[in-house]
Amino acid sequence: MSKERVVIAGAGGFIGGHLVADLLRDGYSDIVAVDLKPLDEWHQRFDGIDNRRLDLSLRDACYEALAGAQAVYNLAADMGGMGFIENNKALCMLSVLINTHLLEAAKDLGVERYFYASSACVYAAGKQTRPDVAALRESDAYPAMPEDGYGWEKLFSERMCRHFSEDFNLVTRVARYHNVYGTHGTYAGGREKAPAAICRKVAAAVLSGDREIEIWGDGEQTRSFTYIDDCVFGTRAIMDSHIEEPINLGSSEMVTINQLVDIVEQIAGVELERRYNLSAPKGVRGRSSDNTIIRDQLGWQPSVPLQQGLQVTYRWISEELAASSGMTNEAPKLAAAVG
Ligand code: NAD
Repeated sequence: MSKERVVIAGAGGFIGGHLVADLLRDGYSDIVAVDLKPLDEWHQRFDGIDNRRLDLSLRDACYEALAGAQAVYNLAADMGGMGFIENNKALCMLSVLINTHLLEAAKDLGVERYFYASSACVYAAGKQTRPDVAALRESDAYPAMPEDGYGWEKLFSERMCRHFSEDFNLVTRVARYHNVYGTHGTYAGGREKAPAAICRKVAAAVLSGDREIEIWGDGEQTRSFTYIDDCVFGTRAIMDSHIEEPINLGSSEMVTINQLVDIVEQIAGVELERRYNLSAPKGVRGRSSDNTIIRDQLGWQPSVPLQQGLQVTYRWISEELAASSGMTNEAPKLAAAVG
């Protein structure tokens, strides 16, 4: 059992909730879980730890949250999928306040290790113009031309971590997450990302018997998707490592959005009519993670196949959807399959 006090900023969110669960499984008991959202809106909340509602964009709240802590994971950000970040650039950039104030508090309060959740959105746009792009290496972030708004904030905050390390000896670790998916995350409401959105749309079609699905763009844009268990394992491994530079934490299994839909349809046992919305936000044309550094330095890389991770995710989303609509998914599923 670890006696260390660990603070998870953004614990009410998708990755934060899974990270708290993993630390608890591992014997950590002194956990401070913090989020801006009311406690009853957290994706996962655990008894027996210190769950707090605080606005970590405020300096005083960061000092309050980090008092007595040895390790801090900063997973708090105002973010979402492409539909959110393309239309809320200022809000995304305001997350800089969270990381800045957390870093200041960590430095002043003698925190031993600090983790920052960065993103593949830091990568330069010019390296992601074709569906068959080369996987992104860590060095591809410079010369900088990241995703406008969200990506610039991530890149700036990465550098802030670096300079707090260099100038104040705060140990900081930075992972660049590539599109994380799994259970207990946002799947509706406008902030959801592609895998959750596709699972929800397919599950909704199954439930309603409607045979059509809307896809953003032409579906030929490519991505790689990281299953949440790989993300949590890698996050902790990077935090405990000696890797000082930002490092990719992402799958190298690249698929088109059409292939993603194929997999989810196959899991659900349906085939739907695809309607392409070419004016919807679609992000870069191609993106995948080069895992050379994580493989060399940690002897590990994300490994859950997309098909396997989506199976679990689809089941969870379809059960959530069925529960919220008061339907079981069996009868409509049958109707959709034979209709
Ligand atoms: P999430 O939106 O589910 O969780 C983020 C949490 O931060 C939310 O619960 C939100 O309420 C909280 N938060 C926002 N502002 C806050 C504030 N002022 N004070 C306290 N809490 C605040 O997102 P996630 O998917 O769990 O992402 C976690 C981190 O990983 C974020 O920094 C995100 O940018 C980064 N990231 C995620 C992905 C992904 O695919 N999920 C990819 C790249 C990077």
